[in-house]
Amino acid sequence: MKAAIFKQKGGDLEIVEVPVPEPKQGWVRIKVHSCGVCHSDNACKYGNFGNSFPRIPGHEVFGEIEKLGEGVDPNYFKIGQLVGVGWFGGNHCGKCRECLNDQWIFCKETLICGIHYDGGYAEYMVAPSDSLAFVPEGMNAEETAPLLCAGITVFNSFRNQNIKVGSLVGVQGLGGLGHLAIQFCKKMGYEVIAMSSGDQKEKLAKELGAAHYVNISKDGWIDQMKAIGSVQCILLTAPSSSIVQSSLDALGVNGKLVLLALLPEPFNANSLTLIGGNKSIVGWASGDSRDTEQTLNFANKNQVKAMIKTFPLENVNEALLKIADARFRHVVKVL
Ligand SMILES: [Zn+2]
Ligand SMILES: [Zn+2]
Repeated sequence: MKAAIFKQKGGDLEIVEVPVPEPKQGWVRIKVHSCGVCHSDNACKYGNFGNSFPRIPGHEVFGEIEKLGEGVDPNYFKIGQLVGVGWFGGNHCGKCRECLNDQWIFCKETLICGIHYDGGYAEYMVAPSDSLAFVPEGMNAEETAPLLCAGITVFNSFRNQNIKVGSLVGVQGLGGLGHLAIQFCKKMGYEVIAMSSGDQKEKLAKELGAAHYVNISKDGWIDQMKAIGSVQCILLTAPSSSIVQSSLDALGVNGKLVLLALLPEPFNANSLTLIGGNKSIVGWASGDSRDTEQTLNFANKNQVKAMIKTFPLENVNEALLKIADARFRHVVKVL
């Protein structure tokens, strides 16, 4: 089969012919239709999570079940079933404290797809059966792929904050995560303020469902946010260290600031802003395959769609290199 592979740490992806992998016990083989390109593919390139080389990356995998390994229930996992695999790569033990608390993603046995085992930049891949999210009938392979990492990250982190429906929420950044966050928050029943730099993105933000647009590169934007109302949550999708304190200032009483992406360096926050307004800063680690399945069902029923540009597998390097200027997600079309 054809695959894009990091042969060594820090190198570019190379297109190679490799044997089709066999599913071991408890794993399935997936015929890949498409795979989304994510910034975190660079974590594989540089071995940030301790992966070995050579390694095929890709953790927004859309495909169909093609072969079952020993011990996989054929009544549940059917050949031809459309499935997705995200960052959560399965293999949770089911016995540890985290598993018993229903936090599969924090189990020590849990693997990351496209990091700890070969991912979706290939015609076939194998994955543990617990990593699979079933895809609703009729979802488009390319448009759905970004929901398997970017989509679940915004949907699952936000729905776990218990913000009252109807509240005002801010979405900072209008890129791969932000353009999905605006749609999800709006469709979940919230009034959305899109927060981005410049005025040229206002039209798109409103088309995606934002009720308001605030240009955060202009002085006075914090007061502008407060004038709209009591903002109960801000999702930082493109955070910088300087945005943390100003976003805390823009939040209303009881407001939550949710970090959806890593900041390049440590940040400062004023404790008086936090204590004086019951405010909090929250981190949230994506979710597991069941969360992904709910993300897909919600997106399918409510017409949440990723805006994408597709590339053939041969051009995956270009898709990854140009990811910084992607409007909004790059997807590799495999089938
Ligand atoms: Zn990702
Ligand atoms: Zn466990």
